[in-house]
Amino acid sequence: MMDTFSFSIPQNVIFGSGSLKRLPELAAKAGGKKAYIISGPHLKKIGLVDKCISALSEAGIDADSFTKTEGNPSTDTVKEAAEGYISSGADFIVAFGGGSPLDVAKAVSVVVSNGGDITEYEGVGKVKTKTVDIIAIPTTAGTGSEVTAFAVITDHSRNYKLTVGSEYIIPRYAILDPELIYSVPEKTAAACGVDALVHALEAYISLAASPFSDMFAIRALEAIGKNIRAYVADRSDEDAAAGMLLGSLFAGIAFSHARLGDVHAMSHPVSAYFDVPHGVANAVLLPSIVEFNALADTGKYYEIYQAITGEKLERKDFLPEMLTYELINLNSSIGIPADLKSVGVDSSYFDAMADDAMKSGNIQVNPRKTVKEDILELYRKAFVA
Ligand SMILES: [Zn+2]
Repeated sequence: MMDTFSFSIPQNVIFGSGSLKRLPELAAKAGGKKAYIISGPHLKKIGLVDKCISALSEAGIDADSFTKTEGNPSTDTVKEAAEGYISSGADFIVAFGGGSPLDVAKAVSVVVSNGGDITEYEGVGKVKTKTVDIIAIPTTAGTGSEVTAFAVITDHSRNYKLTVGSEYIIPRYAILDPELIYSVPEKTAAACGVDALVHALEAYISLAASPFSDMFAIRALEAIGKNIRAYVADRSDEDAAAGMLLGSLFAGIAFSHARLGDVHAMSHPVSAYFDVPHGVANAVLLPSIVEFNALADTGKYYEIYQAITGEKLERKDFLPEMLTYELINLNSSIGIPADLKSVGVDSSYFDAMADDAMKSGNIQVNPRKTVKEDILELYRKAFVA
């Protein structure tokens, strides 16, 4: 019997080469008079932020910008960006960059509309009123954050990554222009690419998966599996870049409906304690957790394996270890470190990290029931390859 399910994709998504030029038109549709662009120092340096500002000004829309967003963005950054938004007199936000500027933009939209501090909104459904409109323009492939209801912010005072989940923070528009991801550094392309793959994989095997999320997850796995190596090898490969951006988008739609699993629950403490990039933390943890979850597999591993590799094989010829091996192989071919030790993790923190991982809502939808002892065992297993 099929469980009941529901879905909505309330944002408007524009996809295609050169679609950045639609920004002024969408800004006008959003009724915006002044934009506040939230971005990072790299995009400022290479002139892309100024390109946005001049495109908007040609359409008669003023813009201020905040370009101090860092990797694993902090509660302090949110506070500073929110103060900047208020003093700028802006009435909408353009989130321009990788996952970090998108997370900060969502958090700022909450704080400036609902008041207080972002830490007060941890969890799902704590945001009470509608937030400021966001136009999201991702420049990595990717977090899929442009289509999700989640923002993840690091609270350095307690080495903790908090997740805010609310329908109100879904960006109103998303512009996905493959040309914007041609200049991503190789390491970032690899880490973000595996992150998108993890989104699709965890959404596909999640206990909260539905026929709707499955459809997006499997198409995402196909697009990412087919293109990730070519894209990391040459980010200006137009077909590979477009395939990765589409895969990242579909993975985002999948996990915004099905949530994630143990990989994300366990990777947040790795990033919070040791400032490891989100995608790298996920990629390093992925093989051990896929192996752990094999016990709960209902046949989806076979589908995932075929989607990622493009191979067609008989069910009787498939073993779950083949998926684990494929993922280890992918990580090593695109330069992802083999274990937690090589990304600077100190194993004496495992107990505290496991406590934080257990607080994640993603644990509840992981296909294999997971207790703290399992998390500790998985951290130990991923520590030295
Ligand atoms: Zn992720």
